Order: sequence, then structure tokens, then C-alpha cells
Amino acid sequence: MKPRDVAQSRAVLEKALYEGRSTLSEHESKDFIRAYGIPVTREVEVRNLQGLREAIDEVRFPLVMKASSPRIAHKSEHGLVRVDIRTLDEAQCSFQDIMSLMGETDGAVLVQEMILGARELMVGLVRDVQFGPCVMFGLGGIFTEVLKDASFRVAPLETRDAFEMTREIRAARILEEVRGLPAADMDELVRILITVGQIGLDHEKVKEIDLNPIIIEGSRPVVVDALVVL
Ligand code: ADP
Ligand code: MG
Repeated sequence: MKPRDVAQSRAVLEKALYEGRSTLSEHESKDFIRAYGIPVTREVEVRNLQGLREAIDEVRFPLVMKASSPRIAHKSEHGLVRVDIRTLDEAQCSFQDIMSLMGETDGAVLVQEMILGARELMVGLVRDVQFGPCVMFGLGGIFTEVLKDASFRVAPLETRDAFEMTREIRAARILEEVRGLPAADMDELVRILITVGQIGLDHEKVKEIDLNPIIIEGSRPVVVDALVVL
């Protein structure tokens, strides 16, 4: 990692700790992992309609809009994720809706590119009292909890460990070429797994990371939701 990126990743954590928070917002979490080279959505946080118009120029339709707050962990359960927004009208309505549902005076909305892909995965970091930082890999979205199809490794991960993890889940075949979808970029996926383990070793204060989902767009994995817990 470049020194500038190390400083950037540390600054995000320090800001949250200084404010007495134990969670980073999705946007902060992505800033943090982007500094490590993990691919994330293009996105802008907006607080008013003027900001929304500028964000649309930068991010481009189709969009996803979400509540942006370190206090809200499960956004879709509260109706705070709107996908496939295609017009300025829809974007403005979604903005007003999300802001009023959040009911926070300092609330913000995250405007991000919509990632198109049928395959949703998850990568996580947990700290075990005995083994220290452990990396988790599995199916993403609603399937994480329903199917409990996941593999684990203790950090640091060797390339070989990371490849094995991707093959150990029951659903491993969805990563191959299936039904006209290209095979997932396994080198990039493996890089993400190794990097998440490395973050756990670099930052004692990071208690948990949840990248869920990572959507495979074409063959490229992109993190569309991220949560870092301190
Ligand atoms: P939650 O806080 O509920 O986990 P997410 O940000 O994960 O919220 O969004 C819920 C679901 O919406 C995801 O599992 C995914 O299917 C879809 N989604 C979210 N963001 C995007 C995006 N940028 N592109 C495509 N789909 C998205
Ligand atoms: Mg999520």
C-alpha cells in the first residue's frame, strides 16, 4: 500500500473513534477498504437536492440510493435501499422518501452506481478470541443467513488458502462459467480475501468487516455494501 493510502485508511478509523462511534457508515467503510485497493462502487453522499443533481452527473443512471448513516446497519429491512433509479424524478422522490424515513436532522443519502450481476457473494472478517482475525467467504445477500454456506481461514492468508476457500462452499460452481455468465475473476476475488485478512492484522481496532454483497458484474467482483465495526 502507498503511504498516502495507509494514512487515508487510518484517518477514516480515527475520525469514527474520535466521535465515539463503533461503526463506520457504508461510505466510510468503502473509503477505508478502497485505500487497500478493494474495488467498490462509484458513489457520492448527498444532503440536498442540489447535491443530488451533481451526484447524478458524476455517478450516472441507473442508480441505487440508500440511507447513509453510521447508526443504520440493516438498510433494506427499513425500506432504505432503492435500486434501479432511472430518472431525475425518481431520484428526487427517493431522496425525499429516504430522508423522511430516516428522520435524522443530519441525515444523508448515498447515491451510487447500480452494479448489474446475478451473483452475490460475501467476504467478512471476524476476530476469534483464540485464533485472532479470521476471514469468511460465502454467498451474499439473503442467502448468507438462509443457506449458511461459508468457509473460514485464519489470517494471514496465502494465495493457496484463499483459492481453497472459494472452492469449499457448496455453491462454488456459480463462480465458474454458468448459463451464459462468464467465470468470475478468481484472481481479483482471491486478492480481496487476502486483503481483508491483512486489514485485520494491520488494524487491531477493526473488530469486524462485512462486505455483503460483492456483486460479480460480468466477471469482475465489486463491493456494493460494506460495514466496518470497531
Ligand atoms: P443492507 O444494509 O440491507 O445490507 P445493501 O446495501 O446490502 O443494504 O442493499 C441491499 C441489497 O440491494 C443488496 O443485497 C443488493 O442486492 C442490492 N444492492 C445494493 N446496492 C446495490 C448496487 N449498488 N447495485 C446493485 N444492487 C445493489
Ligand atoms: Mg448488505
